[in-house]
Amino acid sequence: MPVYRRRGMAVCAAAALTVASAAAAFAGSNAEATPADLPGSTAARVQIDVQVQGARIKAMLSDAWADATATWSNLLGERIFQSDVPQLNFVPAVRASHCYGLYISAGPVYCSGNTTVFVSVTNMEDLARRLPGVGDAGLAFLVAHELGHHVQKINGRFRTLAALVRATPYHQRELALRFELEADCLAGVWASKSPKFAASEGARAAMIASLDAIGDDRIQTATGGKVDPSAYTHGTSAQRVRWFKEGLDRGNAEACDVLSANMF
Ligand SMILES: [Zn+2]
Repeated sequence: MPVYRRRGMAVCAAAALTVASAAAAFAGSNAEATPADLPGSTAARVQIDVQVQGARIKAMLSDAWADATATWSNLLGERIFQSDVPQLNFVPAVRASHCYGLYISAGPVYCSGNTTVFVSVTNMEDLARRLPGVGDAGLAFLVAHELGHHVQKINGRFRTLAALVRATPYHQRELALRFELEADCLAGVWASKSPKFAASEGARAAMIASLDAIGDDRIQTATGGKVDPSAYTHGTSAQRVRWFKEGLDRGNAEACDVLSANMF
């Protein structure tokens, strides 16, 4: 859910996903043992495995980020990026202080005020472990979704959203959902033009499968809850897949005007 403040906005990719997986991680008696619980040699090996896995995910996401920023630079013109260069910042944990004290989730977050995407590798590892359907393609998608929010900033969509919310405050939740689906669509535009991903049907299929796994309805049922549309933050699996495909098939940002779409 976007948060409105004078200095900018923080928008998240995986708030609900993160909350759900954190709850699954810490609730109940079948929580996994931490390295500290294990015998010495095993604990050391597990710790090294965790470090290797973390370094691998960080390298993979850095590659995806470089690919996505280069792709959007080609699409929008380098001049725009040179005046407002988005940054990717790996942090141990995403904190409100990263975005002027705005409330933000544990998941990947784009802060419009400092044009930075904050990513906790630990959080990404957790997502990959808790939701095996997500995989590398899904994690790369999450970063591309956050860069989609930067494209929204460049294209004036934050101002459009704010104006619509002022005009119809009772539609704020729906508008926020539409805004998130625009970022999914823009990630689809990236996937359609990316040198690395556009050529790989398998990678695109993996992203669609990942999106199917992280719809709000799917997460709610996967974590034992009832489907509650009033708690949606990013859209159902069907909505997320639909808008990602819209961007993928049409390959331009104009395809992603979800704020104005009759149906979403
Ligand atoms: Zn988002």
